[in-house]
Amino acid sequence: MAQLSDDCFAQGGPLMRVDEARALLADQVVAVTGRETVALTEALGRILAEDVVSAVDIPPAPNSAVDGYAVYHADLDPEAETRLPIAGRITAGQQDLPAAPRGKAVRIFTGARMPAGEDGGPDTVMMQEDCTVEGDTVVIRPGIKKGANARKAGEDVTRGSTVLHAGQRLRPQDVGQAAAVGRQELLVSTRLRVALFSTGDELREPGTELGAGAIYDSNRYTIHALLTGLGCAVDDLGILPDRLDAVQAALADAEGRHDLIVTSGGVSVGEEDHVKTAVEALGKLHLWRLAVKPGRPIALGQVGPVPFVGLPGNPVAVVVTFLTVVRPLILRLMGGRDTPPHTFRVRAGFDHKKKKDRREWVRARLVDDASGALTAEKFPREGAGILSSLVAADGLVELPEDLTRLEAGAMVDFLPFSEVAQ
Ligand code: AMP
Ligand code: MG
Repeated sequence: MAQLSDDCFAQGGPLMRVDEARALLADQVVAVTGRETVALTEALGRILAEDVVSAVDIPPAPNSAVDGYAVYHADLDPEAETRLPIAGRITAGQQDLPAAPRGKAVRIFTGARMPAGEDGGPDTVMMQEDCTVEGDTVVIRPGIKKGANARKAGEDVTRGSTVLHAGQRLRPQDVGQAAAVGRQELLVSTRLRVALFSTGDELREPGTELGAGAIYDSNRYTIHALLTGLGCAVDDLGILPDRLDAVQAALADAEGRHDLIVTSGGVSVGEEDHVKTAVEALGKLHLWRLAVKPGRPIALGQVGPVPFVGLPGNPVAVVVTFLTVVRPLILRLMGGRDTPPHTFRVRAGFDHKKKKDRREWVRARLVDDASGALTAEKFPREGAGILSSLVAADGLVELPEDLTRLEAGAMVDFLPFSEVAQ
């Protein structure tokens, strides 16, 4: 298994732009997972660890794209109807094909092989809806193009071509593509084994009595879902108290069995924030102060040789920092290619002032405006602790560093949650 270089999360500047942070991760982080072979039905969402090369042409032989009649285009009258005798019939999967001489039509069904004949055989298929059958003959309307409705061998995939690439995350259509070239199994990266903790004396497990001064632990469940969505094998290690010895012992214990340790809370500057001190004692720690809003410092480091991520405590900051920094980090640790999520241009339905030189993400939902275009509407409350704002949102409007004032009606980049958190 590969290992990160010693102190790979070191960074110099006091305030880091998002692009710098991503570039640093791209530069320093290597895949630490192994490889395993999985059945196609287990492959969804996994990161492919091989190039998949097709051993076959798809389709393997010329065939019909419709139910209809295979004809020689040269037999058709371009100006008037053509009447042709029906010479035979071919269904999908049929092995022995009838002869298809010039001057005749062959009844054919979708996916059935095109018959052989003179000059390479029939080259065009007339859809049955555009034909009239009269006894043993078919009457064909004029106007069809040569080659219409006839699929060529290899027109989808040619033998020897690479249909899927190492490092890509497998979507449903990718799994289907592997099957289409005849693969039963795929080589993928092993799941990243992630140890997950929350920290905070105020946290209680959902389903238990709340008591004075307590809140339910939501971050651990949000992060668990985000990690699972990325294909990680999450080891839920519960809530840690705000005590240095307990945090340090738990982190030291987790190190041996995991590829990554993730915590939330306890990384600000308060004296009850013990995560930083614990990680420093066990390895290396760097606080990345990202030039973003919402977001607090995110702690990155190593517990022994194992990479460590200390997320903020505020639920909205957790999600935003996860999506911007942790998601690309995890994909790299699992050997994934760096594919930044797509944002989409939509109209802003709100005015907004922001500080220069930091990137800001505004929680928004999409609504259809009068013209049918999409407008992003801002959630009225902005606090980093307001989890319900994320629940109401469809995604984040991403405002660039140099912008200071947004006026309603301007076009903005919108990052749908569906792009990054599934
Ligand atoms: P901290 O960074 O530990 O100072 O936490 C910042 C804020 O986030 C505090 O209001 C915490 O109560 C809250 N918080 C921390 N951890 C969690 C959690 N796991 N679930 C919900 N809220 C949390
Ligand atoms: Mg705390």
